[in-house]
Amino acid sequence: MAEFDVDLFVIGAGSGGVRAARIAAGYGAKVMIAEEFRVGGTCVIRGCVPKKLYAYASRFADDFEDAAGYGWTIPQKPIFDWRSLVEAKEREITRLSGIYRANLERAGVLVEETRATIEDANTIRLSEGGRLIRARTILVATGATPMLEPDIPGLQFAISSNEIFDLERLPKSILIIGGGYIAVEFASLLARLGVQVTMCMRADNILRGFDEDMRTGLRDALTHCGVTFHFSTLPTRIEKGLNGKRAFFSNGTEGLYDEVLLATGRKPHTKGLGLGKAGVALDESGAIKVDEYSQSSVPSIYAVGDVTNRLNLTPVAIREGHAFADTVFGNKPVIVSHKKVPTAVFTTPEIGTVGLSELAARQSHDIVDIYQTSFRPMKAVLSGRTEKTIMKIVVDGKTDSVLGVHILGHEAGEMAQLLGIAVHMGAKKADFDATMAVHPTAAEELVTLRTRSARHSR
Ligand code: NDP
Repeated sequence: MAEFDVDLFVIGAGSGGVRAARIAAGYGAKVMIAEEFRVGGTCVIRGCVPKKLYAYASRFADDFEDAAGYGWTIPQKPIFDWRSLVEAKEREITRLSGIYRANLERAGVLVEETRATIEDANTIRLSEGGRLIRARTILVATGATPMLEPDIPGLQFAISSNEIFDLERLPKSILIIGGGYIAVEFASLLARLGVQVTMCMRADNILRGFDEDMRTGLRDALTHCGVTFHFSTLPTRIEKGLNGKRAFFSNGTEGLYDEVLLATGRKPHTKGLGLGKAGVALDESGAIKVDEYSQSSVPSIYAVGDVTNRLNLTPVAIREGHAFADTVFGNKPVIVSHKKVPTAVFTTPEIGTVGLSELAARQSHDIVDIYQTSFRPMKAVLSGRTEKTIMKIVVDGKTDSVLGVHILGHEAGEMAQLLGIAVHMGAKKADFDATMAVHPTAAEELVTLRTRSARHSR
């Protein structure tokens, strides 16, 4: 009998796990993958994909309003049906999940739709039937789960991003606890769908770590579309009554809401996996400690994606999964860089960003030059919208290298993807200046920003 049943066992068929399984199988490895929920993982099933679909749905509210400025008369007030959107979303994620599964099977990967736990460094137990699988290498790609904090009485009455996509009906009002990615994205889309949105958070502004001007610009845009903010304020208790959920705040006030959404971060999904039994070291957040090749403290066990709490973004998990397979099964050691990773926040307007914020650059560089502009986007002129697009280029004053670019505006996510290439390649401000503009676009401002807005020396 062979010593191992498979060369690779992957726990978790999300973005990182699926990529690793397919690439390893492509190198000729015998691969098995287990998923306890739905193939596709958080991004496809209850994260990035449905969120973007809901953001698109919400933006029609603006389009209907803006149409009048362009000569359109809409005879009746448009009606939005939440259940139709939920059902359309369900069809799409089911289709995508099927594609993920088909791609795995086409690559020769054995798919087990059950929970899998680790028995020891080379053994996996499948929940269904208790079957034991001996694996030469194990990859943990179980992602993260919503953090249930702050720990206050009545927290069980709040929902998380796991539940919000499939609510039976659209709430009339919602309290969102937290000020990160998930909190602002849902605040933006729900407000446009007609929900009265209140946000509360422990910080004095949204999106800690993002460039200050983007944070403030987005806060103002959300305020403008009707979101109410309570900064430096958290609920101390939540009660559920016949009329809704009542939150009592640390500043002595209280409010009644149809729904309460907890968006206070996500924690690595390591509990109950048997990692302790196998001797896998975790850090203080519960994440699997890995080296630059995603190898854990147990040589036969690797981990990629949010379960390692490095940079919790889908494309990063995919890249880590691919690099793992190249390294372990393709004989091509690859280290994933977590620097200069472009990212976007899918609010309306969006934030698109790559590289250092102004503050981070000023803390790490002697001379920092800022090129910044703020303008009303062309589309808003005829529609009469008062929104602003903000763009900022952060430059190393000594070398002229572009350290970061930050955009608040329509399609900022699309711009961030392309800016990511330039910044990754080490573009100088002079390269931006030498690039011909595309006219008329918003992005052309990035190559026509000639006048320095500020210079900061340490
Ligand atoms: P974030 O880390 O973005 O935000 C968490 C928020 O909760 C912050 O406002 C934080 O406050 C607050 N918070 C954390 N702990 C507590 C606590 N104990 N009590 C009160 N408040 C607390 O997490 P999200 O849940 O929004 O998103 C999870 C991850 O998913 C993100 O890190 C991101 O990587 C990913 N994601 C990416 C998206 C994208 O790329 N567009 C979209 C959605 C999610 P403070 O700022 O003070 O720490």
